[in-house]
Amino acid sequence: MANRGQQLLEELSLAFPVERRHIFDRLRAAAQRSSLRIALVGGLPREILRCQFSQRERENLYDELRDIDIVVEGDAIRFARELYRNLPGELVVNEDFGTATLTTEGVEIDLTSSRRESYAAPGQLPDVDTSGVRIEEDLGRRDFTVNAVALELNPDYGAMLDPLGGEADLRNRQLRILHSASFHDDPTRLFRALRYSIRLNAELEPVSMAAFGRAIEEDMLATLTPERVRYELYCISREERWHEIWAVMDLAMILPGLHEALGGISSWWTLEQGSSLDIVLRNQKEVLEGTDIEPWLVRVAWTTLSMRDTYFEAAMNRIGIFPRHIRAMVTARHLLVSVPERLSSSMRPSEVVDLLEHFPRDSVALAFLVHMPVDDRGVSTRRALLNYLLEYSQVRPMLSGHELIRLGIPAGPAVGECHRRLRAMRLDGHIDSEEDERNVVLRMVNLGEPGADQASGDDG
Ligand code: ATP
Repeated sequence: MANRGQQLLEELSLAFPVERRHIFDRLRAAAQRSSLRIALVGGLPREILRCQFSQRERENLYDELRDIDIVVEGDAIRFARELYRNLPGELVVNEDFGTATLTTEGVEIDLTSSRRESYAAPGQLPDVDTSGVRIEEDLGRRDFTVNAVALELNPDYGAMLDPLGGEADLRNRQLRILHSASFHDDPTRLFRALRYSIRLNAELEPVSMAAFGRAIEEDMLATLTPERVRYELYCISREERWHEIWAVMDLAMILPGLHEALGGISSWWTLEQGSSLDIVLRNQKEVLEGTDIEPWLVRVAWTTLSMRDTYFEAAMNRIGIFPRHIRAMVTARHLLVSVPERLSSSMRPSEVVDLLEHFPRDSVALAFLVHMPVDDRGVSTRRALLNYLLEYSQVRPMLSGHELIRLGIPAGPAVGECHRRLRAMRLDGHIDSEEDERNVVLRMVNLGEPGADQASGDDG
């Protein structure tokens, strides 16, 4: 009869689509061939246990899967190469860290040699020692007990490794660090604590809570580089309940600890508005197509929209947002201040284009997504931005520059000007075929200058 760990592994396999279930067998077979002890760790054991405790559905487990974490007792890179022989995909090896990632059919398998870590100074990456470290010991370097449960795949298939009581904590919805200096060693765990507490509906138990408070008070956040902060905010802003985590980060003094101007930003918006942003992001996905902006960045821009311009760039730099994304955000903020008062609901499409085409598309898209109308002007701004993004900005005359020249427009700036006129007439519905365009151009040529035709076009 299957023991509990084996049952969990079976259940986990069932949560995977049939055509991906072989991954677990291949992992086991590769470990057997290389005589290595390996175990599944991190997110998957945690989530399958949550299914057992009816804390979540099994159905969406695979869809929400970010990666499969495997801890290898011994050489993870040797194991990765062995696995790769029977599980084709893309193998990336990091010799310096003793880790490897095999991506197979869209599933990322992270392979790590079991390790002991020590921290020379808060906020720095740890010194790592992998020699002769048992998986049980590796579990002791992790962030929270609920993330320190492993399910052995080989040799003792299904053995549950839970030396720190992670299962009980998970059942009781308790988030517990493994030692009192945990947040000092690695202050990214402050972010992770809030992320998991919201995701798992768990509470930081009192000793961990006190350690959290001490790390904030002693300004451990200052030891983190912007890049490390960005990664944590990226993870947070991709969570389903991202807006709650941002609000808690504010209340728990993480945001003001990063930059004083970030303090208090959550008082400017409500969770309902955060959910509305998600609806827009879902329903208007196409707005981001062809831009360099991802949904998580839109959320960052939205949460910080109320911040004063004076501090905005400095705060964004502190949290590691790339300069090109900061520029897009700053321009979107300026657009939302300057454009609405110049827009009116009676504006012709060509006038909307004249107003918006000077802004980079990334900024117009950002402005549209983060803008929450509170009055009629806001509603027409929103409509104009959307029309521009999805429709107006795609409108092009059918005639090429060469054809315009062939029809008699002099080569040089007049070609661009003529194109612009044709586009305006097309946008405003005065013309809609290639023949119309040809006629307009011939009239312009006969009149001797492109501008002379605008009036006749407007007359229809
Ligand atoms: P999810 O990806 O669903 O957020 P996960 O648990 O798989 O959850 P990862 O960030 O992939 O999260 O990390 C895998 C495991 O590595 C964690 O479960 C934890 O055991 C360990 N880990 C990750 N980051 C840290 C950290 N900063 N300190 C200690 N352990 C960590």
